[in-house]
Amino acid sequence: MGLSHKQKRKRFGRGEILQEALPPLASPLSSCLEDVKNSWKNKKNNIAALCNDWLKIAGQPLASNCQPLSIQRKVLVVGASHPQWLQALQYNRSQLLARIQAAGIDIKDLRIQQYHPPKIDIAKENELRVWSRHPSRIDIHGLAKCTKCSCPAPGGEITLWGMCSFCRRKFKLNNL
Ligand SMILES: [Zn+2]
Repeated sequence: MGLSHKQKRKRFGRGEILQEALPPLASPLSSCLEDVKNSWKNKKNNIAALCNDWLKIAGQPLASNCQPLSIQRKVLVVGASHPQWLQALQYNRSQLLARIQAAGIDIKDLRIQQYHPPKIDIAKENELRVWSRHPSRIDIHGLAKCTKCSCPAPGGEITLWGMCSFCRRKFKLNNL
């Protein structure tokens, strides 16, 4: 999709200047992903490669209770949230290290640390659920007329409070 010779030239006064050539088109995403995958294969000290094969290397039940966190200077950090699994890791440490090395991942040591995997944000989920039923949503409850100010207001507000949210705020302030 290169520009023709003519398009690359821009009129400039009586002469013309040559525009800077466009940068080459970015390669398609799929080939990028393929590149990433290949770089994992080549760089066996990569944490991603280890995560990929974690189940095979660590085996159950260790694999689902412990998690490789990072590799820095060939030291792998493995985390577990429960003291019982931290202990299990400690106990299996040398065996696990040997298995990881046997899998071709270039590490020389293994460190164990407590790690709490991020929890799903329940507060945020609730917020979304509340909003899905919120009386101010016209798309759900439709429009109605406020009984106080006669202005069009979300139907859900009228059903719930008998008035629009503006009147309700005023009403609440007056009754403090
Ligand atoms: Zn009103």
